[in-house]
Parts: sequence; structure tokens; C-alpha cells
Amino acid sequence: MEELTLRLRVRRLVESGEVPCEESGKTWAGRGTGSHCAACGQPITPFEVEFEAELPSGTTLRLHRLCHEVWREECQSLALE
Ligand SMILES: [Zn+2]
Repeated sequence: MEELTLRLRVRRLVESGEVPCEESGKTWAGRGTGSHCAACGQPITPFEVEFEAELPSGTTLRLHRLCHEVWREECQSLALE
């Protein structure tokens, strides 16, 4: 997925509240386990790095490394509006 497409998708998810914008309390990085990325919807394969963000509300988001970055950036820009 192209980064611009990803960014627009994440922005829509964040604005609609499907993906929350909370400061992640804890974030782990590890090998992908095939679970679907909360941002792009693609599976995170064992060949990729999976970021697991544990949110204060109890939700756990699993994201690709790039998707995690985009999610944080989109949340920041949303907070500035
Ligand atoms: Zn992803």
C-alpha cells in the first residue's frame, strides 16, 4: 500500500473513532504473528515487525511499524486542529 493511501485510510479511521487516538501506555515491537493491522487491514507476516500498542482503555492495537508511525502522526495532527 502506498504511504499516501495509508495515510488517508488512517486519517479516516481516526476521525471516525474506529482507531482510537490515545497515548499508548506500553508498546511492544516483535515479529508479526499474522494478525491484521489495525491501520491498513493487511496481515502482519512473520517477516515484518509488529507493533503492539496497549491503550489505557484496554484496547490493544496491532500495527506494522510504518502504520504505527502514521497512526501517531495522524493523531498528532488531529489534536492540533
Ligand atoms: Zn499496516
